[in-house]
Formats: sequence, structure tokens, C-alpha cells
Amino acid sequence: MNLLIKGADLIGTGRQDVLVRDGVVSEIGMLASGLLGSETVDQTIEADGLIALPGLVDLHTHLREPGREDAETIASGSAAAAVGGFTAILAMANTTPVTDTAEAAERVLDLGRLAALVDVQPVGAITKGLAGEELAELALMAHSRARVRVFSDDGRCVQDARVMRRALEYVRAFGGVVSQHAQDSQLADRHACCHEGELSGRLGLPGWPGIAEEVIVARDVMLARHTGSRIHIAHVSTAGSVEVIRWAKAQGIAVTAEVTPHHLMLTTDLLAGYDPTFKVNPPLRPAEDVQVLRAALADGTIDAVATDHAPHARHDKEHTFINAAFGVLGLETAFSVVSDVMVGSGLLDWAGVARVMSVAPAGIAGLSGHGRPIAVGEPANLTLVDPSATVTVDREASLSLSRNNPWHGRRLTGVVHATVLRGLPTVLTGELV
Ligand SMILES: [Zn+2]
Repeated sequence: MNLLIKGADLIGTGRQDVLVRDGVVSEIGMLASGLLGSETVDQTIEADGLIALPGLVDLHTHLREPGREDAETIASGSAAAAVGGFTAILAMANTTPVTDTAEAAERVLDLGRLAALVDVQPVGAITKGLAGEELAELALMAHSRARVRVFSDDGRCVQDARVMRRALEYVRAFGGVVSQHAQDSQLADRHACCHEGELSGRLGLPGWPGIAEEVIVARDVMLARHTGSRIHIAHVSTAGSVEVIRWAKAQGIAVTAEVTPHHLMLTTDLLAGYDPTFKVNPPLRPAEDVQVLRAALADGTIDAVATDHAPHARHDKEHTFINAAFGVLGLETAFSVVSDVMVGSGLLDWAGVARVMSVAPAGIAGLSGHGRPIAVGEPANLTLVDPSATVTVDREASLSLSRNNPWHGRRLTGVVHATVLRGLPTVLTGELV
């Protein structure tokens, strides 16, 4: 199978034709000059005006299979991811049952391969059943066919410092990384459901203070230093966390961090109408935090954008605010939000988008075939985006099985046009192939 991508803007080298042979980039040049003339082409993508990025990689996706296939399956989530420009996603472990064994991890891998739209890489639980007490089968998962490298109890924070220390020591042996959902359970109790501040007081909602995140981030970077291991901070939401991560990086501590599209764009005042669509964990924060998160993503203190795509069935999300499930959809809109917020404001250029949405997340997750430059000999995992097209998000158009979409009705600039996984288009003109 030979695929020709015609006239795409390859960041740095300008407009080029890219020939892909059997999943690998085989030639780059201008077709008109005869460089590629001798090749038979099976399929051509006209990419005039489009920018070619390495295929997007999401460090943080909830696919709900096994256990809640009414909210999302590995197949439906893969479809949403492909349309969102992703070629690889990491599937979080908080399913039912939990991904805490080699068999469970291999099953996620296999279902992802069956869907064949993106590479679905399982995340392994840190502790058995996400209970926070006993370490899960970390090494067995790492040495399984699924080659698990990222471990997380996401949805729950590992509260016990001794358990966290053990996990960090353990994963070092196989180059793993521990991804922490930083939330001190005493400072943000189980009823906490929105940012603690003037608004939470006025709405009468139990608050989730930023310090509940920051004390865990501070503790865990120190544990990472002590163990010489890698810690990753999931969905950073406060300026104080950014400050700690910046300090830790300056000390040479192996810490990486991600921010979600919703924490880059949405603020806590959206909760004024008690709309549970905007109920997320960690909660939406004030504009001052959002500004700091954007700047931290631009300067590299925060390494990556990760969606925290969290589909929920209607009967779990459409409740009174206090009883509704936490989480929002994110896979299909992540690129457009980042383009709108970060490129639109001049904080990131397209090379920067490639860094935070592909190169850095692939590196953190240890995915060797992703986040690579678009160059001869590299696997053809790439995303073609239209930087000037706009989209008005329609939640009914989503390929996710759920509809908890906080972007509904928003007009965003920058749209995914096509996604190519190992030389095969999964998405063309914004539609699943
Ligand atoms: Zn989380």
C-alpha cells in the first residue's frame, strides 16, 4: 500500500509531498520535480493548506470497557480518538474489573488491536483494585504482551506515602513511570465537588482547595527524588502545583506533568448555573490558575496535554450537581481547544503543539513508534490539521457513546482533517474512513 500526501506543510521544511510505503515514510520531496515519479500510488491525500503533525498521543483516556460499556467501549473510544487526530491513547486502569493484572492489560491491548483505529496502550493500576494498599502485579504487567510502562490509580490518589515510595522503587527496574492523581483525601473530602472559593460558598457546594493537590505534588516529587524514579503528575490544575513542578525540574528531579484541555480553557465561574456538565476532578479553577497553566505548558514546565476523556452515561451525569459523576469528553475536541487557546494566543507555534500533544506524551509513555519526526524511515503515524478552519462543537455529532461534552456550541479555530495510522488513513476530511 502506497499513500501519497500531497503538499502538506511539514513544520520546519515547508510544503512537501510525503510518500508512505507499507506504513513507513519512504520519500519526502516535491512530486512535480520528479523525485517521486517512479512510484505507483494507491491513495492520495490532497493536503494543500494543511499542517502535518506527528500523530497525537493521549496519556489519559477513560474507555470504560470492561464494566461500563453503556458509557464507552474500546471501539467507540478508539473512533473518537481517531477523529480527534490521535494515533495512540493510554487507557486508564479504573475499569470494572480494574486493570491490575497482566491478563487484564493484555485484554485491553487486544480489544484495541481489534478496533484497529489507534494504538490502545493499557495503563496498569498501582494498587490492587485501586484500593491504595497493596501493589498490583506491576512487573507482570510490564513483562506481559501489553508492555505496561505507565501505572496509575487515577480517579483515586495514592494517599499512603509508603505505598507510593514502594511503587516508585518498583517501576524503576523496567523504566516505568507512576502517574499520580494528586488529591489529598483529608483536604478535599469525598463530597468536594468544585473549586473552594467565593463561588463554592455562594453556591453552597463543598469546596476542593488547590492545596489538596499541591501537598501531594510536593510529597511525590520528593519521593521521586528519594527513589531516583519517575513521577508523572496527572491533570495539573493549580498555579501552586506548577510552582512545585518548576522547582522540582530545576533540581533535576524526574517529574513530568500534563494539563487537560478543559483546565486550559474553562474556569470555575461556569458552575454558577449548577450545570453538572462542568463537574470535573480536579475541578475547574479561577482564571488566574488557567493563565499560569497556559504559560507553564508554553515554557515546558508542563510537558503534555492529556484529555482525561471521561465519558458518562446520561443517568450518571444528569443529576443534581452534588450527585453527578465527575468528568467530561475530550478526545474529539482536544486538538481544536489547544489550537484555539495556545496557538490562537501566540503561546505555542505548531512545533510546540507537536511537542505537547505527540512528542512529549509518547516519550513519557515509552511508545517508540509515536511522537517521531515526519522523516524518511519513520513509521507513518501522523495527523493533518487545518489551522484556519473553524468548528462549532455539536455534542450529538460525537462518536463517543456519551454526551457529557462541555464544548457543545463553542466555536473553535483549528480542525483535524485526517489521521494516518502506520500508513493507513483512519480519518479523511474529518470523517472515520
Ligand atoms: Zn484523575
